[in-house]
Amino acid sequence: ATPTALLVGTGRGAQLGILIKGPEVLESTRKVDTVVLDKTGTVTTGRMTLTDVIAADGIGRAQLLRLGGALEHASEHPIAQAIAKAATQEVGPLPTPEDFANVAGKGVQGMVEGHAGLVGRESLLADWGQHLTPDLAAAKADAEARGRTAVVVGWDGQARGVLVVADTVKPTSVQAVRQLKALGLTPVLLTGDNRAVAEQIAAEVGIDQVIAEVLPQDKVDVITRLQGEGKVVAMVGDGVNDAAALAQADLGLAMGTGTDVAIEAADITLVRGDLRSAADAIRLARKTLGTIR
Ligand code: ADP
Ligand code: MG
Repeated sequence: ATPTALLVGTGRGAQLGILIKGPEVLESTRKVDTVVLDKTGTVTTGRMTLTDVIAADGIGRAQLLRLGGALEHASEHPIAQAIAKAATQEVGPLPTPEDFANVAGKGVQGMVEGHAGLVGRESLLADWGQHLTPDLAAAKADAEARGRTAVVVGWDGQARGVLVVADTVKPTSVQAVRQLKALGLTPVLLTGDNRAVAEQIAAEVGIDQVIAEVLPQDKVDVITRLQGEGKVVAMVGDGVNDAAALAQADLGLAMGTGTDVAIEAADITLVRGDLRSAADAIRLARKTLGTIR
């Protein structure tokens, strides 16, 4: 491609809300055949709300919200923010946990008013020998079948409740996936979330391939594996968790609404945080370079 053509291409991108880091980026964009999409914040809005509170026998709803809310108040995860906000509204100011720790891709832990507490995936609680009662397990399965994310709260050695949060698909995501497929690309949904939730969201937007329950540090390996299969991979993400995968991908696209770390790691920023811009970017690259070949 001539420098002028590339310049025109990147300029046209800027008009469309597609910020391209350098002229060479257009070349990788043109060759992409697989588009890996992060779920939370990319395909979905990432703005969660607490929808259900299920306490184990003998546990009060307020008690569950107070301990769970206190731990989540110390975390910046979208799930955590939804839980802390709802808990504050219902039970008032929350205590500050001691020995707080974030367990990436799994949840949070810490001491709240003398109780050793955990909030997160079932596997986080299982790591501490805490298991769901049949009632809690049923409530969790039911929520996940409805496409929701259920996290477990436990303290003093036992799982004591389930908190259900809901995220919503961005209205533009359905159209974006349709456009990506029309360009001959294979969309793949990648998430740390539960398989049932991931499959529900994938079905809602028309994605056939789902890679779920992937720890943040393992997202990059998924990209490497696809590349090993001969795929030319674009990754679209928004989170701190996505940065390494965005850098590893043949083409990294960050949502402009996402974290700075993701934007720095990516080759392209989709200013509007609209997944349809990913299809626009690929169309633009093909057009810019196609005319010259
Ligand atoms: P995603 O890949 O969809 O952006 P994450 O990797 O951030 O998701 O998190 C994966 C899963 O770990 C979440 O779906 C949730 O079950 C659990 N999790 C992570 N952080 C928290 C937290 N602060 N509170 C509760 N659960 C959490
Ligand atoms: Mg995300």
